[in-house]
Amino acid sequence: MPNPTASPDAGPPVHAALDHFGSADGTLTIGGLPVARLAERVGRTPFYAYDRAQLDRRVVQLRDALPAAVKLHYAMKANPFPALVGYLAPRVDGIDVASGGELLVALDAGAPPAEVSFAGPAKTAAELRQAVAAGVLVNVESTREVVLLEAIADELGVAARVAVRVNPDFELKGSGMKMGGGPKQFGVDVEAVPDLLAGIGAAGLGFEGFHLFAGSQNLRAESICDAQRQSYDLALRLAEHAPAPLRVLNLGGGFGIPYFPGERPLDLAPISANLHELVERARRDVPHAGIVIELGRYLVGEAGVYVARVIDRKVSRGHVFLVTDGGLHHHLSASGNFGQVVRKNYPVAVVTRHGGSERERASVVGPLCTPLDLLADKMELPVAEPGDFVVVFQSGAYGASASPQGFLSHPAVVEVMA
Ligand SMILES: *Cc1c(COP(=O)(O)O)cnc(C)c1O
Repeated sequence: MPNPTASPDAGPPVHAALDHFGSADGTLTIGGLPVARLAERVGRTPFYAYDRAQLDRRVVQLRDALPAAVKLHYAMKANPFPALVGYLAPRVDGIDVASGGELLVALDAGAPPAEVSFAGPAKTAAELRQAVAAGVLVNVESTREVVLLEAIADELGVAARVAVRVNPDFELKGSGMKMGGGPKQFGVDVEAVPDLLAGIGAAGLGFEGFHLFAGSQNLRAESICDAQRQSYDLALRLAEHAPAPLRVLNLGGGFGIPYFPGERPLDLAPISANLHELVERARRDVPHAGIVIELGRYLVGEAGVYVARVIDRKVSRGHVFLVTDGGLHHHLSASGNFGQVVRKNYPVAVVTRHGGSERERASVVGPLCTPLDLLADKMELPVAEPGDFVVVFQSGAYGASASPQGFLSHPAVVEVMA
């Protein structure tokens, strides 16, 4: 029986997702359960489900590609769901947090403090105290942080571990989101780093290395390799001004996943070759330094689905609307309102309860009173009725925690591991 959820023009990301998650009796399965059964297990819709087997698959792919000497960190702002962070913690080498709240989740998940780092442009004194007390690495982003850390380390009688987050003088070309190059609130401009390093030395902080993050959601391996090489060279130049030998060299990440028709999965082979080369160079140049890459979306994005239920089916002037209980308040990214310049449809599938094979062009919308609440715009989908399910793939990153859940006061979304 053909899989009724795949339409002929569904595009490569939908087909790839259906392949990964699998099917039984012609219907999509998540974590081995048919979607309808999983919805019964969860007890209500809408929900996010994160598939452990998909997380494993991605970690294995990365371990196969990365040199053994490269540490794989999870950047948990992509998905801070505690059960997911707890699942990943023993499978990666460290966790990068971006707030005091994330720090608590990472430590609860069992991440060893020695392998946790904390970056972010507005760290409060209270957050810096948390970080010093926990013994995690602080990626400092201003002189103010150095001054505060000196006082906090003194007060607590605990050494502060620091790396310098550098705002490089280049950017990651072809990124969905640029986070370096030009004027930025992130990190310290390269030009100002030597002075900051002198300050770190004078304050007696435990300097460990550099953190460079040039951009996000990149599908071009060559651009990522370029940024890694430039980051390495820059860190080595800056190390001449450092008060202690380099021990940590965090080269960022930026690995993207395909969301839209025409996008192809990132090719890890050139990145693997490039990192092997950099590891070799580091062995000679900075023998005590460990290279780190930090990935958020790439680790978790493809493992997650968002499932909503069709509440109503409306035909307005010939146009079919599947009105669901899920929408942009849970999944801002899929609605196209989380940084996209031109709105495109995420990979979406409809799972009918009766497995009908008839198709139609329909738009999937949510319960909010705004035309922005759109999960799929004029997509070719199986004919659906109230009670059927809409599944949004590529939803494991920047989903629940990146959405305005309070908007219109609908119930919060449920998240589960599957
Ligand atoms: C957001 C962020 C990440 C994760 O980016 P992804 O695109 O999800 O991999 C990593 N490092 C830093 C510093 C970030 O701000």
